[in-house]
Amino acid sequence: MKCEVCNESMRGYIANDTDTPYYKCNTPGCKCNRNANLLNRQFREKLNAFAVKGKCYKLIDRYLKYTFKQMNSSLALKIKRQKEQGLQN
Ligand SMILES: [Zn+2]
Repeated sequence: MKCEVCNESMRGYIANDTDTPYYKCNTPGCKCNRNANLLNRQFREKLNAFAVKGKCYKLIDRYLKYTFKQMNSSLALKIKRQKEQGLQN
C-alpha cells in the first residue's frame, strides 16, 4: 500500500490503547496515518464495482483460472522439481 501524499510504502500497526488497526507512512515528515478498517471497507466497495454477476460468471471464472495457471506455470514446474529433488535426497 502506498501513501497518498508521498507515494512511499506504508506499514500496518495496531494502536495499543484502542486496539484499532492503522496504516502509517514511515517517510520522515510525512506523518500520513489512516484507519485501516475504514480504508479496507472503502477498498472492498471499490472492488464490488468489478464484481461479475449473471451468466458470464462461470465463463470468466474458468478463463481467470486458466490464465492464472498459465502465468504461474514456471512456478508450478519449479515446485514439482523441488519435490522430486526432495524425494531423491
Ligand atoms: Zn507519506
